[in-house]
Amino acid sequence: NHDFDVISAARNWRLDTDQASTPHDIVSDVYASDVLTLEQLKTRLSKPVYRSLQATLERGDTLDPSIADTVALAMKTWAMEKGATHYTHWFHPLTGATAEKHDSFVSPTGEGSAIATFSGKELIQAEPDASSFPSGGLRATFEARGYTAWDASSPAFIMRHGNGATLCIPTAFASWTGEALDTKTPLLRSVEALNKAVTPALSLFGASEGTRVGSSLGAEQEYFLIAEEYFYRRPDLVMTGRTLFGAQPPRGQELEDHYFGAIPDRVLTFMTDAETQMYALGIPVKTRHNEVAPGQFEIAPIYEDSNVAADHQQLIMQILRNTARKYGLVALLHEKPFAGVNGSGKHCNWSMATNAGENLLEPGDTPHENMQFLFFCSAVIKAVDEHQDLLRISVASASNDHRLGANEAPPAIISIFLGSELTEIFDRLESGQGGRGAEAGLLGLGTSVLPPLPRHAGDRNRTSPFAFTGNKFEFRAAGSSQSISFPITVLNIIVADAVSALTADLKAKLDGGADLNAAVADIVKSTYAAHKRIVFNGDGYSDAWHQEAEHGRKLLNLRTSLDAIEHLSDAKNQALFQKFGVLSDRELAARQEIMYDIYFKTVNIEGETTEYMARTMILPAAIKYLGELNAAGESRAARGVAGEVSVAADELYDAVQALSQQNAAQGGDEVHEKAHHMRDHVLPAMLEVRTAADKLEKVVAEQHWPLPTYRQMLFVK
Ligand code: ADP
Ligand code: MG
Repeated sequence: NHDFDVISAARNWRLDTDQASTPHDIVSDVYASDVLTLEQLKTRLSKPVYRSLQATLERGDTLDPSIADTVALAMKTWAMEKGATHYTHWFHPLTGATAEKHDSFVSPTGEGSAIATFSGKELIQAEPDASSFPSGGLRATFEARGYTAWDASSPAFIMRHGNGATLCIPTAFASWTGEALDTKTPLLRSVEALNKAVTPALSLFGASEGTRVGSSLGAEQEYFLIAEEYFYRRPDLVMTGRTLFGAQPPRGQELEDHYFGAIPDRVLTFMTDAETQMYALGIPVKTRHNEVAPGQFEIAPIYEDSNVAADHQQLIMQILRNTARKYGLVALLHEKPFAGVNGSGKHCNWSMATNAGENLLEPGDTPHENMQFLFFCSAVIKAVDEHQDLLRISVASASNDHRLGANEAPPAIISIFLGSELTEIFDRLESGQGGRGAEAGLLGLGTSVLPPLPRHAGDRNRTSPFAFTGNKFEFRAAGSSQSISFPITVLNIIVADAVSALTADLKAKLDGGADLNAAVADIVKSTYAAHKRIVFNGDGYSDAWHQEAEHGRKLLNLRTSLDAIEHLSDAKNQALFQKFGVLSDRELAARQEIMYDIYFKTVNIEGETTEYMARTMILPAAIKYLGELNAAGESRAARGVAGEVSVAADELYDAVQALSQQNAAQGGDEVHEKAHHMRDHVLPAMLEVRTAADKLEKVVAEQHWPLPTYRQMLFVK
């Protein structure tokens, strides 16, 4: 009886005060209490050892082996004081998730006792068996070993589970031949590339010696929560993370009453618990609110150094998933768990900042600051225009395909929203309006400083995939379940590339005797003129924009992930990754192969699950109901309904037979052929099955319907 489920789903939760973290915990006491910060290490290491460690960090070098044992001992002591019994190198394989293999601090001595061990060698490097992680052909089968190496720039932390605790040491993961098998290594390399490209530009603007540049990143995570009872009754959610069936409920998101609405008590308690755990890990979570769709929420931390932000982002996803279960809920991080209501994204707010904390995309209050801002802003415009393909590829996945280009998500076409104020400034610069020469003020704009640019207020333009929001750019096409490492890696290097080019230009002009103001004005003007086709402030969801973008402006429209992935190995992209030492051709090819492979496997699992559910759950329900109707006599209603059910059930049967054939077919031996088979044959066949099944859902008696419905999943809280 499914009515029972509704009641239990709604009511099985009662706040258990022992289980929930105490909300009156003072945040400043909890904050970073499970993080081995540099200050912590400082108190535990001798001055010379600490100084050596610090120097290592600043240079980004590997740790001096002579101090490794001392540092390891300090880490172990700290971790054991925190209750940790195990340690793990924590890394980011190319699955997009994280991986860990726990080792006990304790080694048996062979004399019936045990001693705690953890040496410098174990801190710096470990050798997990790499053979079960995707390598895209980088790891020959005869050499399965991979190794992990400590990334000292992201602090170690304690992961708690039940009453246990584990010391997690962030690490990079590479093959024995030194090729990156993870997402962290290229990200770290890209930050260095950005630093190398931007510091020469800054020194032309008069930055002091020793200035370093990194990227800052704040990622907003959207997700759905549904009651656990429903989740486990839906093989599609369990196997694939999204509903493969489900008729539209009578009410969707059209009442617009959920966004920023009051957060239900149960959900708020869950959020508070999750946030307290995040605080302990030093994750600066700041905002939480209801999102647009019913049952959809968002959590966002304050921005951080992008490498640390990427680590923290993975922890946020993990904590959301784990904590929801304590409250009888399941957190769905899939990009499109429900058809017909909004999907979930992960907006990546990105900027560049110096080690002195100067944000290079902050317009500033002086002409000098403004000039520098316009220079870097033009570089971003150039970068995005020249590398639309890479940005699109960096968010390509089977799951994000259901969201990008759908009517409530950014289109697959990459463009930049600058806002009318900033666009006007660029337009005036380009046309030379507002006077010329030094007396005409900043870059000939007639004023000495830029007018204040409004910080974006919430909804100013939700339809742009890449929006300037006052002092940063917001890349909105990233999917809710994906690792943010690759999108940030791409952003870092495309901007590094553009900044290098503009800097060379600027340097040549200055060497030729030009004055800085005039030279920058020239560069901003010509860069904007060459790349302004990428700037679009209108409605990115409209058909008119798709026409204009593709035909008028000749922007790329890589509609599906497979259209995009194909371009990863284009000569231009190989050259770019190569030039900045971020990925070799082989490493890049490996990533492409893995993207195809994950795409293929994802849709393959969906196809099989669709077939299974249709055959073993939905068709039997329809047939059973049909039997009842046929036994119900000759009333006009019974005959009429039986007719409808019968027609829809036949359609479903035919559609399942067709899907079954596509599931059995391979499409080819190569992984990209298999992926194309999935996109071109399996996905359409799945859709036919769904259409017929969703028709049945509307006519079969509710008591026979074997699956929790959208109405239940989205509205019972
Ligand atoms: P809004 O609400 O207007 O979008 P917020 O300031 O709340 O803007 O920012 C949203 C996200 O952008 C947060 O994660 C925030 O920390 C991040 N953010 C703000 N400034 C920067 C920056 N300079 N670099 C990267 N991310 C930033
Ligand atoms: Mg948002």
